[in-house]
Amino acid sequence: MNDPIEPLIEGLLREVGEDVDREGLSQTPGRVARSMRYLTSGYQQDARSVLNNAVFEGEDYDEMVVVRDIEFYSLCEHHMLPFFGKCHIAYLPDKRIIGLSKVARLVEIFSRRLQVQERLTTQIAQTMQEWVKPKGVGVVMDASHLCMMMRGVQKQNSSATTSAMLGTFRADRGTRTEFLELIRR
Ligand SMILES: [Zn+2]
Repeated sequence: MNDPIEPLIEGLLREVGEDVDREGLSQTPGRVARSMRYLTSGYQQDARSVLNNAVFEGEDYDEMVVVRDIEFYSLCEHHMLPFFGKCHIAYLPDKRIIGLSKVARLVEIFSRRLQVQERLTTQIAQTMQEWVKPKGVGVVMDASHLCMMMRGVQKQNSSATTSAMLGTFRADRGTRTEFLELIRR
């Protein structure tokens, strides 16, 4: 069964001046369709179901938890070109902690959609806040955007940093500074 994306890619290839019958392109619509399904698979995933069984109650640990350098790859919603980089997440537990691998899964779920970096950052922070209910959460994302590097202004070495600070990370300068110190290279 053909993916409805395939004829769209075939049309796109024709439109840019390609010969869709040449050998090298014969499998391309199918490949692009599968790749696009994968890169946008976050739409089919629910952050809640990932976090549901991963939050551990009644833990005494109350120091800052930092997961840094989580790699992520997303697609900008303006050009459908990749942006990618590193995400750093910290939270201050309030009797609940979350499995560390789930933090990375969360980044993946929201990355594999059409995004803007600002919203991606906020969604991760808000979901952490809502489901782990910590005293505070901080998320910092550094990313390179191919839409800036390959086209338009062609700023090859530019990167964008976004952050979302909730709870104590917003209210308390000390907490925020500690987080930013811990993720500084
Ligand atoms: Zn873009």
